[in-house]
Amino acid sequence: MTSPGAARLKELDREHHLHPFTDFKALGEEGSRIIVDAEGVYIQDADGHRILDGMAGLWCVNLGYGRQELVDAASEQLTQLPYYNNFFKTTHPPAVELAETLCRLAPAHMNRVFFTGSGSEANDTVLRMVRRYWALKGQPEKQWIIGRENGYHGSTVAGMSLGGMAPMHEQGGPCVPGITHIRQPYWFGEGRDQTPEAFGRACAEALEARIQELGSDKVAAFIAEPVQGAGGAIIPPDSYWPAIKEVLERHQILLVVDEVICGFGRLGEWFGSVHYDLKPDLMPIAKGLSSGYLPIGGVLVGDRVAETLIDEGGEFYHGFTYSGHPVCAAVALKNLELMQAEGVVERVRDDLGPYLATRWKSLESHPLIGEARSLGLIGALEIVADKDSGKRFDKSLAVGNLCRDICFETGLVMRSVGDTMVISPPLVISHDEIDELVRLAREALDETLRRLTAQGVE
Ligand code: PMP
Repeated sequence: MTSPGAARLKELDREHHLHPFTDFKALGEEGSRIIVDAEGVYIQDADGHRILDGMAGLWCVNLGYGRQELVDAASEQLTQLPYYNNFFKTTHPPAVELAETLCRLAPAHMNRVFFTGSGSEANDTVLRMVRRYWALKGQPEKQWIIGRENGYHGSTVAGMSLGGMAPMHEQGGPCVPGITHIRQPYWFGEGRDQTPEAFGRACAEALEARIQELGSDKVAAFIAEPVQGAGGAIIPPDSYWPAIKEVLERHQILLVVDEVICGFGRLGEWFGSVHYDLKPDLMPIAKGLSSGYLPIGGVLVGDRVAETLIDEGGEFYHGFTYSGHPVCAAVALKNLELMQAEGVVERVRDDLGPYLATRWKSLESHPLIGEARSLGLIGALEIVADKDSGKRFDKSLAVGNLCRDICFETGLVMRSVGDTMVISPPLVISHDEIDELVRLAREALDETLRRLTAQGVE
């Protein structure tokens, strides 16, 4: 039952609020769901539904909802010093302490951090820092940055340009010049005529070919997510990262690993780069850094880049009003302290990740599912019309969106990316809650199949 208060909010929302990544017209017709409360891994809407948040908000509420320690950290810092900036030779304790903690948790060669307000701003910083680095090295012609089709690096102009989401490029272009994209390591979607291993190597060969085309003396950096998140929880074949690393090292091209989703325990290590044994030059971070309680991001900078930026001197003309905001930094610091004290990351690696993997895999027996994959606490289901061939449903049926809407009705947040269903639950989820998540996903798939059959879809 929708309460009068909720009905009014929905009306006001329809009249005044433009939502991100939304078809405004369609939302106006359907109306939005208003989330009013949350605890642990559950959210609650204004109509009284309790919903298991299989997406941890937007891949960010790693410690789950309702952590009073984070509220207290924010409140204390708001009282002490609600704002001061980090420009003009000043700083404040939360920014410094967070910088030190991050560098302790990061791979050993990363000892500096530049703060931003979000993941997109982190990637804008990446673009400018990479080009500045090469200019300082006396190679200003090294300008090209290679990203990947269907990669996601944010929604600012630089973030969108580094990302490889074609629909985003088509709106509001042109993109930032000097950025190009190679194929993604999406074996289920694009590589099933080869073994996963051969396909992973072929993707690295595409990188080699693009570098040859552009000239390696013109290529500044390669940017990628360890596991593509927004693209559909795409876990690369095991051969992929070692082959990519080899190409980059041979051509002396910087590696930027976007840890905005994979960082802070999602893959069972503090960073996805640790899981895949990468040695990034730059790591954009955000989301799980504060478990999403307050907006904060940054770029962890490896020694070879940091030393050049520092030793060569000269001002880096870049920064944000909220770079290292004291309240956000205090919450992030407390979040990292709690994650360490509670062994959250190790638990994902040793217990929850393997547990989810077996339970999730059981969904592959469902008639609609071509592949169920997961790594740590990120997972995907590939919905197919034909299990043997992997043939997809007609796009016009929007089966992924149908399944997502049914999930909400059954009490689960599961995101759809085309016909790929994605999960990324809070890292504090229990075994029982994983069981519930998998049961709700199966029920939603059953209902999706039932509705498709009722429509006469083969
Ligand atoms: N990089 C990646 C890998 C992301 O998933 C996202 C957000 N989904 C971003 C960058 C952008 O972060 P934000 O939305 O905080 O700007």
